[in-house]
Amino acid sequence: MAITQEQALDFFRKAEALLSGHFLLTSGKHSASYFQCAKVLQYPDYTRQICLNISDYFRHIPVDGVIAPAMGGIIVGYEVARQLNKKFIFAEREDGVFKLRRGFDIKAGENYLVCEDVVTTGGSVMEVINIVKDAGAKLAGVGFLVDRSNGKVQFGVPQIGAVQIEVIAFDSHVCPLCKKGEPLVKPGSRKFTQ
Ligand code: ZN
Repeated sequence: MAITQEQALDFFRKAEALLSGHFLLTSGKHSASYFQCAKVLQYPDYTRQICLNISDYFRHIPVDGVIAPAMGGIIVGYEVARQLNKKFIFAEREDGVFKLRRGFDIKAGENYLVCEDVVTTGGSVMEVINIVKDAGAKLAGVGFLVDRSNGKVQFGVPQIGAVQIEVIAFDSHVCPLCKKGEPLVKPGSRKFTQ
Protein backbone atom coordinates (compact mmCIF):
# COMPACT_ATOMS: atom_id res chain seq x y z
CA MET A 1 0.00 0.00 0.00
CA ALA A 2 1.26 3.46 -0.86
CA ILE A 3 2.53 5.53 2.05
CA THR A 4 1.59 9.06 3.08
CA GLN A 5 3.72 12.18 2.54
CA GLU A 6 4.40 12.32 6.27
CA GLN A 7 5.64 8.71 6.35
CA ALA A 8 7.86 9.32 3.32
CA LEU A 9 9.33 12.47 4.88
CA ASP A 10 9.88 10.55 8.11
CA PHE A 11 12.01 7.99 6.21
CA PHE A 12 14.02 10.84 4.66
CA ARG A 13 14.64 12.32 8.11
CA LYS A 14 15.54 8.97 9.71
CA ALA A 15 18.03 8.31 6.90
CA GLU A 16 19.46 11.84 7.38
CA ALA A 17 18.52 12.41 3.75
CA LEU A 18 16.68 15.59 4.76
CA LEU A 19 18.56 18.01 7.00
CA SER A 20 17.82 21.41 8.51
CA GLY A 21 20.47 24.11 8.82
CA HIS A 22 22.04 26.75 6.58
CA PHE A 23 23.32 25.35 3.32
CA LEU A 24 25.16 26.77 0.32
CA LEU A 25 23.64 25.25 -2.82
CA THR A 26 25.68 24.88 -6.01
CA SER A 27 23.40 27.50 -7.57
CA GLY A 28 25.03 29.92 -5.12
CA LYS A 29 21.76 30.35 -3.21
CA HIS A 30 21.30 29.61 0.46
CA SER A 31 18.71 27.27 1.96
CA ALA A 32 17.48 26.16 5.37
CA SER A 33 17.19 22.56 4.22
CA TYR A 34 18.80 20.11 1.87
CA PHE A 35 18.09 16.54 0.86
CA GLN A 36 20.16 13.79 -0.67
CA CYS A 37 18.12 10.96 -2.19
CA ALA A 38 21.04 8.54 -2.15
CA LYS A 39 20.95 8.55 1.64
CA VAL A 40 17.35 7.32 1.86
CA LEU A 41 18.08 4.78 -0.90
CA GLN A 42 20.74 3.25 1.39
CA TYR A 43 17.87 1.47 3.14
CA PRO A 44 16.05 -1.14 1.05
CA ASP A 45 12.92 -1.06 3.16
CA TYR A 46 12.55 2.73 2.97
CA THR A 47 13.21 2.49 -0.76
CA ARG A 48 10.61 -0.24 -1.16
CA GLN A 49 7.92 1.70 0.69
CA ILE A 50 8.58 5.05 -1.01
CA CYS A 51 8.73 3.43 -4.48
CA LEU A 52 5.32 1.86 -3.87
CA ASN A 53 3.88 5.34 -4.42
CA ILE A 54 5.21 5.12 -7.99
CA SER A 55 4.40 1.43 -8.59
CA ASP A 56 0.82 1.74 -7.36
CA TYR A 57 0.26 4.69 -9.71
CA PHE A 58 1.34 2.65 -12.74
CA ARG A 59 -0.11 -0.72 -11.73
CA HIS A 60 -3.10 -0.35 -14.07
CA ILE A 61 -1.23 1.31 -16.94
CA PRO A 62 0.40 -1.06 -19.48
CA VAL A 63 4.14 -1.28 -18.77
CA ASP A 64 6.53 -3.73 -20.45
CA GLY A 65 9.72 -2.34 -18.99
CA VAL A 66 11.23 0.34 -16.79
CA ILE A 67 14.18 2.51 -17.89
CA ALA A 68 16.23 4.99 -15.86
CA PRO A 69 19.14 7.37 -16.42
CA ALA A 70 22.32 6.27 -14.57
CA MET A 71 23.29 6.72 -11.80
CA GLY A 72 20.57 8.54 -9.93
CA GLY A 73 17.58 6.70 -11.37
CA ILE A 74 18.93 3.16 -11.19
CA ILE A 75 17.82 2.18 -7.69
CA VAL A 76 14.37 3.78 -8.08
CA GLY A 77 13.88 2.22 -11.52
CA TYR A 78 15.01 -1.20 -10.39
CA GLU A 79 12.76 -1.18 -7.32
CA VAL A 80 9.70 -0.02 -9.30
CA ALA A 81 10.41 -2.72 -11.93
CA ARG A 82 10.68 -5.31 -9.18
CA GLN A 83 7.36 -4.24 -7.68
CA LEU A 84 5.66 -4.32 -11.08
CA ASN A 85 7.51 -7.54 -12.02
CA LYS A 86 8.81 -6.03 -15.27
CA LYS A 87 12.28 -5.86 -16.76
CA PHE A 88 14.60 -2.99 -15.94
CA ILE A 89 17.24 -1.32 -18.12
CA PHE A 90 19.26 1.87 -17.77
CA ALA A 91 20.81 4.47 -20.04
CA GLU A 92 24.26 5.89 -19.30
CA ARG A 93 26.26 8.79 -20.60
CA GLU A 94 28.76 8.19 -23.36
CA ASP A 95 30.51 11.33 -24.64
CA GLY A 96 27.97 13.34 -22.65
CA VAL A 97 24.89 11.78 -24.26
CA PHE A 98 22.57 9.15 -22.72
CA LYS A 99 22.72 5.87 -24.61
CA LEU A 100 21.74 2.23 -24.15
CA ARG A 101 24.81 0.04 -23.68
CA ARG A 102 25.50 -3.48 -22.34
CA GLY A 103 23.26 -5.10 -24.94
CA PHE A 104 20.08 -3.43 -23.64
CA ASP A 105 17.51 -2.88 -26.35
CA ILE A 106 13.99 -1.53 -26.64
CA LYS A 107 11.57 -3.11 -29.08
CA ALA A 108 9.11 -1.09 -31.15
CA GLY A 109 5.63 -1.05 -29.64
CA GLU A 110 6.75 -1.81 -26.07
CA ASN A 111 5.53 0.44 -23.24
CA TYR A 112 8.26 1.99 -21.10
CA LEU A 113 8.06 3.70 -17.75
CA VAL A 114 10.91 6.16 -17.10
CA CYS A 115 12.12 6.46 -13.49
CA GLU A 116 14.45 9.00 -11.87
CA ASP A 117 15.45 10.04 -8.36
CA VAL A 118 15.19 13.85 -8.54
CA VAL A 119 13.61 15.96 -11.28
CA THR A 120 14.95 19.52 -11.36
CA THR A 121 14.88 20.60 -15.02
CA GLY A 122 13.83 17.20 -16.36
CA GLY A 123 16.80 17.12 -18.75
CA SER A 124 17.98 13.57 -18.05
CA VAL A 125 14.43 12.22 -18.15
CA MET A 126 13.81 13.97 -21.49
CA GLU A 127 16.91 12.35 -22.96
CA VAL A 128 15.70 8.91 -21.85
CA ILE A 129 12.20 9.64 -23.18
CA ASN A 130 13.81 10.33 -26.57
CA ILE A 131 15.67 6.99 -26.45
CA VAL A 132 12.30 5.26 -25.91
CA LYS A 133 10.61 7.19 -28.72
CA ASP A 134 13.52 6.76 -31.14
CA ALA A 135 13.22 2.98 -30.66
CA GLY A 136 9.57 3.17 -31.74
CA ALA A 137 8.36 2.27 -28.24
CA LYS A 138 5.61 3.98 -26.26
CA LEU A 139 5.94 6.03 -23.11
CA ALA A 140 3.83 4.68 -20.24
CA GLY A 141 4.79 7.58 -18.00
CA VAL A 142 7.41 9.02 -15.70
CA GLY A 143 7.90 8.25 -11.99
CA PHE A 144 10.40 9.93 -9.68
CA LEU A 145 11.08 10.29 -5.99
CA VAL A 146 11.23 14.06 -5.68
CA ASP A 147 10.07 16.97 -7.86
CA ARG A 148 12.44 19.90 -7.39
CA SER A 149 10.66 21.94 -10.06
CA ASN A 150 7.57 22.63 -7.90
CA GLY A 151 5.40 21.08 -10.61
CA LYS A 152 6.86 23.18 -13.43
CA VAL A 153 8.33 20.20 -15.30
CA GLN A 154 5.57 18.35 -17.17
CA PHE A 155 6.44 15.49 -19.51
CA GLY A 156 3.04 15.31 -21.22
CA VAL A 157 2.41 11.73 -20.02
CA PRO A 158 1.19 10.29 -16.70
CA GLN A 159 3.73 11.33 -14.08
CA ILE A 160 4.07 10.93 -10.34
CA GLY A 161 6.48 12.24 -7.72
CA ALA A 162 6.64 9.93 -4.69
CA VAL A 163 7.52 12.64 -2.16
CA GLN A 164 6.95 16.39 -2.10
CA ILE A 165 10.00 18.18 -0.69
CA GLU A 166 10.05 21.91 -0.98
CA VAL A 167 13.52 23.42 -0.72
CA ILE A 168 13.23 27.19 -0.45
CA ALA A 169 16.38 28.97 -1.58
CA PHE A 170 17.43 32.58 -1.00
CA ASP A 171 19.90 34.84 -2.74
CA SER A 172 22.74 35.37 -0.26
CA HIS A 173 22.08 39.10 0.18
CA VAL A 174 18.51 38.48 1.35
CA CYS A 175 19.17 35.21 3.25
CA PRO A 176 17.44 35.34 6.68
CA LEU A 177 19.88 32.73 8.05
CA CYS A 178 22.86 34.92 7.15
CA LYS A 179 21.13 37.79 8.95
CA LYS A 180 20.87 35.59 12.06
CA GLY A 181 24.60 34.81 11.76
CA GLU A 182 24.16 31.05 11.35
CA PRO A 183 27.27 29.33 9.96
CA LEU A 184 26.97 28.37 6.28
CA VAL A 185 27.57 24.72 5.34
CA LYS A 186 28.58 23.53 1.88
CA PRO A 187 27.35 19.97 1.37
CA GLY A 188 30.03 17.57 0.13
CA SER A 189 28.52 16.45 -3.16
CA ARG A 190 27.17 18.35 -6.13
CA LYS A 191 24.25 15.90 -5.99
CA PHE A 192 22.95 17.89 -3.02
CA THR A 193 21.54 20.54 -5.27
CA GLN A 194 21.60 18.82 -8.65
ZN1 ZN B 1 22.62 32.45 4.09
